[in-house]
Amino acid sequence: MVPTSVSIPEPIICAGCGEQVCDRFFLLAAGRIWHSICLRCSQCHCELQTHPSLFWRDGNIYCQQDYSRYK
Ligand SMILES: [Zn+2]
Ligand SMILES: [Zn+2]
Repeated sequence: MVPTSVSIPEPIICAGCGEQVCDRFFLLAAGRIWHSICLRCSQCHCELQTHPSLFWRDGNIYCQQDYSRYK
């Protein structure tokens, strides 16, 4: 999966923090909407918006490094 910047007019809720996303631009990853700052690896908390790929398993997101380590 690759994080993608998208833009829609509806108020939406961030899958990371549960707060409303007010910015017109946010990230769509794992089929959910995220603040760019909330899209972090659940293990090392690196910012996945800067990563070429991310991984999603059991409700948690991982960077490639941690996903390969914890599977
Ligand atoms: Zn958020
Ligand atoms: Zn990580």
